[in-house]
Amino acid sequence: MSDALLPVFQPATMLFEHGEGAWLTTVDGERYLDFGAGIAVNSLGYSHPRLVAALEHQGRKLWHLSNVYRIRDSERLAERMTAACFADVVFFANSGAEANECAIKIARRYQHACGRPERWRIVTFEGAFHGRTLATMAAGGNPKYLEGFGPVVDGFDQCRLEDIEAVRSRIGPQTAAIMIEPIQGESGIRPVTHTFLHQLRELCDEHGLLLIFDEIQCGMGRTGFLLAHQETGVVPDIMSLPKGMGGGFPIGTCLATREASRGMMPGSHGSTFGGNPLAVAVANAVFDVVDDELLLAEVRRKGNLLRELLVDVAARFPSLIVEIRGRGLMLGIKTTRTSQEIVDALRARGKVLTIPAGDNVTRVLPPLIVTDEEIRLFAGRLEATLAEVA
Ligand code: PLP
Repeated sequence: MSDALLPVFQPATMLFEHGEGAWLTTVDGERYLDFGAGIAVNSLGYSHPRLVAALEHQGRKLWHLSNVYRIRDSERLAERMTAACFADVVFFANSGAEANECAIKIARRYQHACGRPERWRIVTFEGAFHGRTLATMAAGGNPKYLEGFGPVVDGFDQCRLEDIEAVRSRIGPQTAAIMIEPIQGESGIRPVTHTFLHQLRELCDEHGLLLIFDEIQCGMGRTGFLLAHQETGVVPDIMSLPKGMGGGFPIGTCLATREASRGMMPGSHGSTFGGNPLAVAVANAVFDVVDDELLLAEVRRKGNLLRELLVDVAARFPSLIVEIRGRGLMLGIKTTRTSQEIVDALRARGKVLTIPAGDNVTRVLPPLIVTDEEIRLFAGRLEATLAEVA
């Protein structure tokens, strides 16, 4: 990596030049099967013709306007998204962390508008990842990320996942909201039980708190449902939702009910680039494709196929693979080796890209348009690589 870049990343050495579908090609012409999709961002794969057309079309018309003017595609996208879920209003940002900052602000401001300004703390969960801004790092509570950055932003109280009594005892007179990923991504693809989500909803209703879902990694079709929570029957008050939304174009989104957002008014939040015409043109094109029951049913079917094949591979390497977990096309392979070791071996020997996560879990996040043939190829390359590693 060039030493002109801030050394916060340790990228693999190969250099990609272009991509198509689930495939990436290096400058030397080597092809890799990408089952990481830019960490669940390239939801429709590379060079999807509808996304390319939307970007090219908008690129010739208007790139940036600022939110001091109306942006037609931003209004259109917000209307389509609110029609498809619990939310009444949408704020567009540029990243996941920004979407979560907005969610936190909406929750605090709601309590303020309800005459309870003393309520500003948020219950979060061990293993959570909500981003790398000062507040979202504090919400995630991972000591590795927090170390050396001065006083941790106050206002987040962490509980163990699935421990409803711990949550109950954490709720106090200062609590404003509960914030959770319905499926934790970074910490190793950990789906939260539907029962626990229902219990959180009940606690929120009982105590006048808002429920915030961070669907940044698991939303937008990844689980075979447009939104991961739609499978659970539990509805949040606020939700953050970016990653796959722009299919690779940066966009972040925070959605809320009208009631939850009652404290927000002109001036209480903003973003220079949020809802930029290029971003919303592409996100509308992604929405055209993903908000389709046929595509979502295919994601569920392909997720089942991939899971079955991974379970087969796991049975052949019982000392190496501990568990296959996840939902839809958001799967994790828990191994007895570190996930970095598995990811490196898959890349070097199998020419397959995956993403490391916590708890020795290798994340398998192919684009939603992956084919059955590519899924079988992935399983074959995984098996061959593990045979060498073992
Ligand atoms: N929340 C979750 C669940 C995530 O997976 C991520 C990124 O991986 C974020 C928040 C932060 O998103 P960003 O890196 O776009 O700020």
